[in-house]
Amino acid sequence: MSYDTDNIFARILRGEIPCHRVYEDADTLAFMDIMPKAPGHTLVIPRASAEDIFSAPPEALAATIRTTQRIAAAIRKAFDPPGLMIAQLNGLGAGQTVFHLHFHVIPRYSGVDFDMHGGPKVDSAMLSAHAARIRAAL
Ligand code: AMP
Repeated sequence: MSYDTDNIFARILRGEIPCHRVYEDADTLAFMDIMPKAPGHTLVIPRASAEDIFSAPPEALAATIRTTQRIAAAIRKAFDPPGLMIAQLNGLGAGQTVFHLHFHVIPRYSGVDFDMHGGPKVDSAMLSAHAARIRAAL
């Protein structure tokens, strides 16, 4: 599959559709997932146009994992979950739905399971408040 320049994350990067920004730098962007699997669920993406881990330039991947580590630390500080999961899906068979490389950073709680592709969209005001909490912990 070739990179679709109109995928939703490419459009977020171009500022064509809104997101709740947590952090950005020259190479990466972190923003709230609109269907969070737990409060604080954040996505980290490279600015580079890569659909998955296989096509990502190594420098873009390195920058993205650096930002992911930083965001994970901020989420831990802001939400104090007992666990924190990093997930990154490649291909339809893995359940990837947006074909721009992204890392999920998801707080986890013992005994609370979830479906990676279930769950409702949450209120924009709540996402905004969660993004502010994580930004304050950066
Ligand atoms: P994946 O299934 O790994 O490709 O994950 C895609 C993620 O993007 C899902 O968790 C969606 O909830 C999330 N998502 C889709 N559209 C948006 C959007 N406009 N803003 C933020 N997150 C989104």
